[in-house]
Amino acid sequence: MTDTATLYRDLLQRAAVLSDLQQVSTLLFWDQETHLPRGAAEARGQQKATVGTIVHERLTDPALGELVEVLEAADLPGGSVEAAAVRQMRRSIDRAARLPVALVEELEKHTARSRAVWERAREERDFRAFAPELERTVELKRQEAEALGYDDHPYDALHDLFEPGSTTARLREVFTPLRRETAELVRAIGASGRMVDDRVLHQPFDEGAQHRLALDTVRAFGYDLEHGRLDVSVHPFTEAMSKYDVRITTRYDAQGFAMALFGAMHEAGHALYEQGIEDGYYRTPLEDAAGLGIHESQSRLWENLVGRSRDYWEGAFPKLQRIFPQQLGGVPLETFYAAINKVEPSFVRVDADEVTYNLHVMLRFELEQALISGDLSVADLPTAWNDFMRDALGIAPPNDALGVLQDVHWSAGHFGYFPTYTLGNLMSVQLFEAAKAAHPALAQEIREGRFATLLGWLRENVHRHGARYLPDELLKRATGSELDAGPYLAYLRRKYGEIYALT
Ligand code: ZN
Repeated sequence: MTDTATLYRDLLQRAAVLSDLQQVSTLLFWDQETHLPRGAAEARGQQKATVGTIVHERLTDPALGELVEVLEAADLPGGSVEAAAVRQMRRSIDRAARLPVALVEELEKHTARSRAVWERAREERDFRAFAPELERTVELKRQEAEALGYDDHPYDALHDLFEPGSTTARLREVFTPLRRETAELVRAIGASGRMVDDRVLHQPFDEGAQHRLALDTVRAFGYDLEHGRLDVSVHPFTEAMSKYDVRITTRYDAQGFAMALFGAMHEAGHALYEQGIEDGYYRTPLEDAAGLGIHESQSRLWENLVGRSRDYWEGAFPKLQRIFPQQLGGVPLETFYAAINKVEPSFVRVDADEVTYNLHVMLRFELEQALISGDLSVADLPTAWNDFMRDALGIAPPNDALGVLQDVHWSAGHFGYFPTYTLGNLMSVQLFEAAKAAHPALAQEIREGRFATLLGWLRENVHRHGARYLPDELLKRATGSELDAGPYLAYLRRKYGEIYALT
């Protein structure tokens, strides 16, 4: 009889090789999105497929399955690192075993094609060109949900891939009042009669200066450039090859610095999380984040709760004025602060402000569920989209490129992903409030451009744990509370009540 410690060591050895392979795969993706010559796309697809096959073979190796089974029966102490590592490995091997190889391959092939069709359809504002592709995607995602298994709603199976333990029913419970109260706030802001002038943001800004500003800002937050780098990509993203190599991207707009700066803050929030994971979890099943909702809570915390706060700009605005004296030299702080927080119903999610953003997410959440359950047909999708927009935001997109065709997610087969954006927003405030309660001087430190205390709290309570806890448990341990939309709504009312002089 082999003792548990030896078996666990065996598990870790297998996990380490899997981790290396996955990191290689991530590097191939990062390179594809940043530097890959266009003519190499097909060869890159082959390389990724081969690595993916090796990972799949290793995950479905019966010897690994037996090892996990024996360790599950071995009575590892509940809540221990070892028990968590076995749980994470169980998730990975179950997913690999339940999904038929043929389905995975078809999804990959289909989404590669459908993404290309979507790009063209969006350019030509022609949903009908994309509809047959999307119909097939929905069919394949339904098959995927059935293969993965679920208790209540097929959407659960797909959403759980991004946010372990989260369910459709729980999302609905949290989102329903959030939608109602957000819509009320949007109406109140619209009725306030206060117009925010954001013209100061739309002027020519030198791209080199924008790049230096982004870099200085994320470095000040604590992003470690010895273990990271900032590049340019069409869609900004963060990828961790391991906690020792966490790279971010942003993009530059010659007519405004806001996109690059807030984008970099956002990605740095993701990167700080990855860089903060316990060293001892490197190449183990615990080296990943707990879930995408928690991940997004970190990006939104730095982008919005720090980066769009008055506290931050009281310290940072004079520096910004020195970098761009011609554009911002004569602008009062209050004008600038209101401009970067302007609330306006808009068509495009990625451009949405903090108040309206979650309505864009809830739209997608509703429609995705209905597509997966079969209550909504792809042909009726644009109408359903525009009806929701009219109802929630009082506007309807003039064309499908600004409507149902705007996001890449569905073309890539990502169903169940969108809700993590709102989960992230909600949790960002819950975590920030907990950090402020633990460190009452935090606001003052942020005014002075000092972030070590905040980062330290996040490291201690969120980052270092990696995938040791499921998202719910991690949030509970960090804040003492369950997921709750209350703090986020209170934050919005406080901040925007002031900006828009609401009573
Ligand atoms: Zn993000």
